[in-house]
This record gives sequence, C-alpha cells and structure tokens, in this order.
Amino acid sequence: MEYFNLSPSTEPSPPATGIGADVPDPTNISGSVSDRPVHPTAPVGINMEHPEDATIAAAFPPSLRIDDHLPDVIIVASNNVYFYAHRHRIANASSNNLGGLLDWGVYRRGFLPSIRLPESGDIVNVVLHTMYGLSCTHFHPTLETVEAALDALNKYGVCVQTHTAPYQPLHQLILSLAPYRPIDTYALAGKHQLEDLAVTISGHLLSFDLSTITDALATKMGPVYLKRLFLLHQGRLDALKNIILKPPESHPTTPGCNPAQHGLLTRAWALATAQFVWDATPSKAFPEFEVHPPETGHSPTAGLSVVGISPNSLKALLDPIGDKIACESCRLMLQQRIQEVVVSWSSVKVRLTQCPLWSPQILITFLVLQPTI
Ligand SMILES: [Zn+2]
Repeated sequence: MEYFNLSPSTEPSPPATGIGADVPDPTNISGSVSDRPVHPTAPVGINMEHPEDATIAAAFPPSLRIDDHLPDVIIVASNNVYFYAHRHRIANASSNNLGGLLDWGVYRRGFLPSIRLPESGDIVNVVLHTMYGLSCTHFHPTLETVEAALDALNKYGVCVQTHTAPYQPLHQLILSLAPYRPIDTYALAGKHQLEDLAVTISGHLLSFDLSTITDALATKMGPVYLKRLFLLHQGRLDALKNIILKPPESHPTTPGCNPAQHGLLTRAWALATAQFVWDATPSKAFPEFEVHPPETGHSPTAGLSVVGISPNSLKALLDPIGDKIACESCRLMLQQRIQEVVVSWSSVKVRLTQCPLWSPQILITFLVLQPTI
C-alpha cells in the first residue's frame, strides 16, 4: 500500500485521546482560527503516540475532492495511517454510522474531527475503498487483509453481499486472489454467503484434493458450501466414468483384422481407463498429473484430483492406447472415440450449481425431512 510519509513533529504532541480527537485540518492552509499552529503541508503535531510513524494514505489525501466536497473527517488507522474522508460517503455506505463512531466527530473551525479505528491501514484502505465504490486491487492486499476488511465492513454496518455482487470492485478484488489461494478464497466466500463468488471460485478447485481440507477451513466455509464442493467433485467423477465407460466401436471385418483382434482394442481401452477412474474418488489425488506452484500452492510432486483433468490431458492419456494397435482401421475408431470423450468431458460443468436460496437453516431442514432409509 502506498503512503505519503510525514516528517516528524518539532512540537510535543499531546497524548492520544482516541475517538473524536480533534486534529489540525491540513486543508485549511490559511491557518485562520486555531488554538494550535497548523502546518501547511502535513498534519503533524497531532494526537498520536508516534508522530514519526504517521503517514497519509495515498488514495485519501487531504485534497481529495469527492462530490465537490473536501474531506471533513479523518479516519486514523491503528498504525497511524491517516485517511482524509467524507462523512456523507461513509454515512451512505454504513447502516450504523461506522459502528456509531461517526457520531463522535465534532467539527470545529480550523479542525477536522478524527476517528481512530482499531484496524491497520491496509485493512482500513480496503474498507474505505469499498465504501466509496472504488477499486483497490492495484494495492494488492493479501487475502488475510481482505478477510479482515470483510469482518470490519460487517462491524461498520456495510453490506458485504451488496458490495461483492458481480462487477463490484470488491468482487473483482476477491476474484483476483482466487487463482493463488483457491480453497482459502472459497472458504472466505462461504463464510460470508457470497454465492456468486463461491460459484466462480469453485472453477479453480476442480483439481483440489478434498481430503486436505482442514477442520478450520471446513468450519469457515460452513456445511452448505462444503457439501456443494463435494457434490461438484462427485458429479464430475460420475460424469467422467460414464463418458469413458463406452469403448471404441468395432469396424467391419477386414482381411487383416477380425472380431477377435477387435478385442485387443477394447481390452487396451478398459485397462487404460480403469487405471485412473474406477478406483478414483473425489478426494483421491491422481499422481500422474503434476502441478507446479504458484497456481495451486501445492508442491511440484503433488497429484491432482482426477475430476480436474483437462480435456487435453485426458486425450493425452488415451492417445497411447493406439501404440499397441497394429490395425489402421482400429486406430481410426480409437481416435474417433477419443474425440467424442474430449467433447463430452468439455461440456461437463466446472462450477457449483447456482443455489442462492440455500442457507444452513434450509439445509438442516432438508436433511431432517429426508425419510429414514
Ligand atoms: Zn481393426
């Protein structure tokens, strides 16, 4: 995150008084009426324990004019990062006036009210960008920062679901993290019931080994999203089995290839497919598919779940069957069958099914009402 460093104060600072502490208004460069001198370029000499650490958030400088208004409140992060903000923007986004903190600020001539938050500057940066409807993806916040920001948004009365709808800046920010931390991002989406995000992120989890989901991750994403992820994998595994169940067709008998020799192709097909499908489960990794970080974060030797195999990789696994077949007609039938498999596998769904009405309560009701077998 970019900040403007402030020079240390040359005057002793009074102790911080927390919420509502008045600080000099650096935008009031005329220095009109004030009990204390106002520095024209930096809000130094203000209430903070370590003035040498004070910084101004690059995206929220004192000169930030929004809706034709200059900042009228300062949000101070726990690490002394100053965000010059606009009360009306915060009040519009927050249903509880920033957790009631906005009510504490009192404007006095020559001063801006300040609100000290317990969150760090990186977190407040995401929170304020979200309130303003701005993108902060270019600051590259970590997933942990975004997760803390979502918790803060909830605390400050900002509807996370509204701001994570498709095409919203926060939606794009979370999606940008999914390729690098897919299961963690999915768990975050599940935690906040972010349906659209969870569906999109699930496309990054086709190769994820479900057996590695920790108790903490399962708890975070909740039973509904955990179950849906398993159903996605199981559905794709069942589809894969059905697709490759059918062996290549036999061609009419020729002088060089009779029905007995056709059996060679059928057996070769069955052997090749059985090796990676018939004993597979959604949580079983297939060691012949290797993946390299950082795409999944796995070690280079880690296997991928068979349900995440790409159509091209599936074709590469089936093509060698033809190496053992001498008959050209049989090889042609094999290639036709492989092409059918690739097309069918490409059409199998790669994401969760949209289920916006599901909630833990609905799931429990659904399970309770199921007849006992
Ligand atoms: Zn043949």
